[in-house]
Amino acid sequence: MAPNLDSYFKTVDANAEAFIDRLRKAVAIPSISAEDERRQDVVKMGMFLKSQLEALGAHMEARPLGKQPGKEHLELPPAIIGRYPKEKDESKRTILVYGHYDVQPAAKVDGWRTEPFELSIDDKGRMYGRGSTDDKGPVLGWVNAIESHQKAGVDFPVNLLMCFEGMEEYGSEGLDDFIVAECKPGKFFADADAVCISDNYWLGTEKPCLTYGLRGCNYYSIEISGPGQDLHSGVFGGTAAEPMTDLVRVMNTLVDKDGNIQIRGLSELVAPVTKEEESLYTNIAFTMDDFYESLGSKSSIFEDKKKTLMGRWRYPSLSLHGIEGAFSGAGAKTVIPAKVTGKFSIRTVPDMEPHEVDTLVYKHVEQAFDSLGSKNKMRCWLQHSGKWWVASPKHWNFTAAAKAVEKVWGVQPDLTREGGSIPVTLTFEQATGKNVLLLPMGSSTDAAHSINEKLDRRNYIEGIKLLGAYLHYVAEEPMKEA
Ligand SMILES: [Zn+2]
Repeated sequence: MAPNLDSYFKTVDANAEAFIDRLRKAVAIPSISAEDERRQDVVKMGMFLKSQLEALGAHMEARPLGKQPGKEHLELPPAIIGRYPKEKDESKRTILVYGHYDVQPAAKVDGWRTEPFELSIDDKGRMYGRGSTDDKGPVLGWVNAIESHQKAGVDFPVNLLMCFEGMEEYGSEGLDDFIVAECKPGKFFADADAVCISDNYWLGTEKPCLTYGLRGCNYYSIEISGPGQDLHSGVFGGTAAEPMTDLVRVMNTLVDKDGNIQIRGLSELVAPVTKEEESLYTNIAFTMDDFYESLGSKSSIFEDKKKTLMGRWRYPSLSLHGIEGAFSGAGAKTVIPAKVTGKFSIRTVPDMEPHEVDTLVYKHVEQAFDSLGSKNKMRCWLQHSGKWWVASPKHWNFTAAAKAVEKVWGVQPDLTREGGSIPVTLTFEQATGKNVLLLPMGSSTDAAHSINEKLDRRNYIEGIKLLGAYLHYVAEEPMKEA
């Protein structure tokens, strides 16, 4: 039986202006987590969210997360957690949702056409403002969904647990331990049957998607040193073993021009593509022209869509990022740097275990350096590592969301992965042991993290319907674990 959502949808439409006004109030609070002097605005935004939900009868708590590591004079903004309805209904499922109320920095001088902290709506319904799509619109989507159920007189279909953080754009400091602790038996998030995160984007602009995978990232440094200090090439060129020459040669062995990783054994760690997985790529609404547009040129490795999507989502990649200590200014300085540090990272995918990747990388880099027979010294180490995540898109959490997309948008969603990372996804999966769904509201042109960030009015209002409809379908989807 499909849930009757019509009166809920009508109520969302009838209250659209009030919901946009709620977003306007949220955007007006410059909750920039990266700027110390804005910390009180981040807290203010958390409190705004808390009071909005309290006014709707939710049980809300602001949980302190302690001091900010490395900035001990700063208190981390609280995790705003909540439960709706206040009393748990044992006959209903419990869904844990996550979002963040902090934003990236923004200033008019960066090139914004409008004031970043004033929501301004153009004649195409594009609602510009920092945080509109990342992630205030989606977070308020849950608030608006609760309010619309009340106004429509429609029974709320699930027990909703909420976790909203204020440091997502600054590495989610303090949150991992908190989530792990609160998922333990008897704690706040212990009863979650599934998790839903709305903090990513459609692949394009017209077709909604559900996201079931993210790549991980292992980031490395290679340091090569020799001379006691920087040298002049007129004096020492041709007579000293130069660290930069060695480093360029070592870095050159890591990846070829077509993106093929040259580290022996690495490709054996990658899970083979199954027929079933391969079929998922066929219908995805994505063209090479979309890709060229986002690339800003036609310099792609592949000419076709499937290879391009697989290259972005399901195969590892290795990128060279930079060389610390190298001369990088304009002009023609004739320095021989005494010590240089090359930076590269590997985007990882199933089934690459991060420490196995480390072992292969160190072995490769050592062999590459040894083969030079250089008198310089080399050191290679891992800077940081975050693991990949992949969920089953056949789980009831996903099938429910797919039905909600069809109901609201009239199309079957694309099943997508992303090439980047959202580390909290894996934290929730590991801490709850439950399926995690990424259910985006905004589209690919929203420019999150960039100037002129926006959320389309259509995506916001239909997105509120989508989040509510998802909760209805998830309440009645047969609970078989796929
Ligand atoms: Zn975000």
